[in-house]
Amino acid sequence: MGKRTTSQLTSINIKTLDATTKAYGSATFRYMVEGKQMKHDVRITQTACNYGGVRYWFQCEYCRGRVCVLYISGGQCACRKCFNLAYQSERDTWQNQQYRKADNIRDRLGWAAGIANGDGVKPKGMHWKTFYKIKSEYDYRLQRIFVSTAEWCDKIRAELNL
Ligand SMILES: [Zn+2]
Repeated sequence: MGKRTTSQLTSINIKTLDATTKAYGSATFRYMVEGKQMKHDVRITQTACNYGGVRYWFQCEYCRGRVCVLYISGGQCACRKCFNLAYQSERDTWQNQQYRKADNIRDRLGWAAGIANGDGVKPKGMHWKTFYKIKSEYDYRLQRIFVSTAEWCDKIRAELNL
């Protein structure tokens, strides 16, 4: 069996936390696994930046290393190294993959890359049937991106009791 990759596990990026939480020095992540409430108290440390200000890090509870991203699996919360995860590629997160797939479809339709650019029109010479088929595939991708983003925001909000 090959190594699991970072994109296969749920991850928490320090960038998704708000300033108050980071300055507080720890964050608590709660979630359910098979009806069981799981909870991780994670320490947050800071280092000074070269250009002023501070940079925040999670502290992995296993290796005590400073990391930007922690992963959750099997009731454990740890860094990439402690889970022995391989990078699929540096920025190949699940969500980036979805964005890329959406952009591939946009490309097929001759639409400008980037979902924020909105839907374009049917390309000249393409059958409506083909267009609707591709368009529905695109809408499905978009839906998945939005749902995952919304779920993530709700989760973070619940954790921070906002
Ligand atoms: Zn670690």
